[in-house]
Amino acid sequence: MRASQLLLPTVKEDPAGAEAVSHKLMVRAGLVRQLAAGIYVYLPAGWRVMQKIAAIIREEMNAIGCQEMLMPVINPAEIWQQSGRWDAIGGELFRFKDRKGADMALAMTHEEVVTWLAAREVHSYKQLPQQWYHIQTKERDEARPKSGVLRTREFIMKDAYSLDVSHEALQQSYATYIAAYERIYARCGVEVMMVEGDSGMMGGSVSHEYMAQADAGEDEIVYCRECGYAANREMALAGADREPPHSEIQAAADGGDAAGGGDAAGSSGVGAAVDLTVDEVRSTPGAKTIDQVVAFLGLPARAFMKALVVTVEGDDASGSGGGAAGADAAASRQVMVLLRGDHELSELKLRKALGAESRLATADEVFAAQGIAPGYVGPVPTTLPVYADEVLRRGHYAAGANKADHHRIGVSLEMAPQATVCDLRKARAGDPCPRCLGDLEGARVIEVGNIFQLGTKYSEPMDATFLDADGKEQPIVMGSYGIGLARIAAAAIEQHHDGYGIVWPPNIAPFDVHLVLVRASDEVQAALAERLYAELAAAGFDVLFDDRDMSPGIKFKDADLLGCPAQVVVGKRAPDGLAELKDRASGERRDVPVAELAAALRDLLGRG
Ligand code: ATP
Ligand code: MG
Repeated sequence: MRASQLLLPTVKEDPAGAEAVSHKLMVRAGLVRQLAAGIYVYLPAGWRVMQKIAAIIREEMNAIGCQEMLMPVINPAEIWQQSGRWDAIGGELFRFKDRKGADMALAMTHEEVVTWLAAREVHSYKQLPQQWYHIQTKERDEARPKSGVLRTREFIMKDAYSLDVSHEALQQSYATYIAAYERIYARCGVEVMMVEGDSGMMGGSVSHEYMAQADAGEDEIVYCRECGYAANREMALAGADREPPHSEIQAAADGGDAAGGGDAAGSSGVGAAVDLTVDEVRSTPGAKTIDQVVAFLGLPARAFMKALVVTVEGDDASGSGGGAAGADAAASRQVMVLLRGDHELSELKLRKALGAESRLATADEVFAAQGIAPGYVGPVPTTLPVYADEVLRRGHYAAGANKADHHRIGVSLEMAPQATVCDLRKARAGDPCPRCLGDLEGARVIEVGNIFQLGTKYSEPMDATFLDADGKEQPIVMGSYGIGLARIAAAAIEQHHDGYGIVWPPNIAPFDVHLVLVRASDEVQAALAERLYAELAAAGFDVLFDDRDMSPGIKFKDADLLGCPAQVVVGKRAPDGLAELKDRASGERRDVPVAELAAALRDLLGRG
């Protein structure tokens, strides 16, 4: 491809409001343009990257016997109604009516179509297993499209589906996808961690997410270098804590004589003026937030028990129909959640504990439920159901006193015997690994893929059955395996860039070689560059030939910004039959005789 003919609109300025490096660089390097919120045009160079990623995925899917097909984006509502997702999914599903007034949807994933097809075409165990995939556009009306192509409303996904006779057979299929996914990410040059996914309210089913470490990531995980444990922060078990409760540290520092009174002040520096084991109510005027009380009482945040009042959305809200008698019971109710002052609530764990969705109660709801404003809520006393995090089992804490401008010291879970005690907090860096007790580390990540053991979740409601060897009708056991092409591209950029631009992993770069002709007006240089362009292309390299009549500075800048792995610069030494070869990743340059260039490039690109 000649740069003089290529639509490669590089720009100096970052796009307005962009934060993610990948977003900035994809726009600046001329790979994408935003048409509307979360809706992008892929320009030629950007589309080449997507095609290379697609080719890698296609090869790996074909290699495990997965069959490529194409399923439509426009779906009739019926199949989504049969699966139950027409009602279960909210605004994310694009819906419309066709000219006859029939309800339609734009597919956000293709379990429904696959199951519809399986119900019609799979009849016998002899036809199983089957593996199907396509690489197709998905439509999702995301609430907050952001970070360039990382979260868009239209995106391309490879989604594969396994159809098996049993759960045991599904395990085998699942394992082959795990192996294929490892190869895909490795070939794309994206480093990922496989973490257990949230199987949500569906219980037992297994899922895994592939997470690429990147500052732009919206998800947070914790992982252990020792044993390889990795999990979403919301999901990771966080039962234990390394340090004893602050009240015990304090007691030890005071020589175990703390109960004597409030004047053990001074030496320990751990909030010694406040003895956490003594039950008393203290005036804390104006101190509502943990930060304010921390400052006021001179205790660390971990010495506090924070009480959140949450509103449980009608337990019936998921739409099972219920019955008229349930109407009132299904209305929202409040519960109190207790966490240590320095811990964060895992909404996912709370959802599991409650068996329902919940949200932070409004100030009015808190007042109605507990008779006090949010800043002073505590567990002693309360008539609300209480859910307490496990860490609080030990120790004494400062908590809200249920009285304006007051906090209560000496609060322990013994004072709230009705509490359900369970793991409710988000794990965090520094926590002991739940598997090997090593140190957990934290990272922000991008979810680049998700695989899921669906079981019979779709085959049962949609009647996708087969006759087993005994002639008995059984539901097909399914799995689904998604991977986002744009997220791989963006994650690759997040992981591989420098101050000058993108540093593409060789296999997914828009071009292998960026051939730069320094002076287009120099006949010797121009002739050699033309020759190399033809020869390298004939040798199987994807070459972008910058033949533009522009200043060398602009050309070099563009080459670094676009980030193709190899740059071949034809300049001053052309009369000697030499070109300069630059490795974009290391920045290393050397003069190479043109006869040796192809071999040197193969080497640089790792295509020995
Ligand atoms: P997220 O939690 O980030 O919204 P998801 O769990 O809803 O993603 P899946 O339904 O698992 O996504 O889709 C499979 C893959 O498709 C994801 O792992 C991701 O790579 C990609 N993907 C999902 N949503 C988007 C989006 N809005 N924009 C770009 N890629 C997406
Ligand atoms: Mg997912």
